[in-house]
Amino acid sequence: MNNSDRRTFMLQVVASGAVLSAGQAMAQASGPKVSETDPQAVGLGYKEDTTKVDAKKYPNHAASQNCASCQLFQGKAKDAAGGCPLFAGKQVVATGWCSAWAKKAG
Ligand code: SF4
Repeated sequence: MNNSDRRTFMLQVVASGAVLSAGQAMAQASGPKVSETDPQAVGLGYKEDTTKVDAKKYPNHAASQNCASCQLFQGKAKDAAGGCPLFAGKQVVATGWCSAWAKKAG
């Protein structure tokens, strides 16, 4: 393999790796974001920003609670958004909250 072939080969490896990671990212972050005005979101008191939750309506809510720390959050710890079984096919944001919040074990 001469230098030019090696360079081409390395570019192909890098390019295919990038496509693979993009595909994986899309698989994990699929579905549109849940809208706060979605009827299911309204019913559960879902807010994209946990600090904006109505404290009078949800007295047990604490600002330290969010989707990222919820048992039902399907994203990884550092993901900005992830799935939630209460909103099938959609994504909730890590900073969000709803009244079904349950502390993640561990
Ligand atoms: S159940 Fe948990 S992850 Fe799902 S929206 Fe409510 S707080 Fe977020």
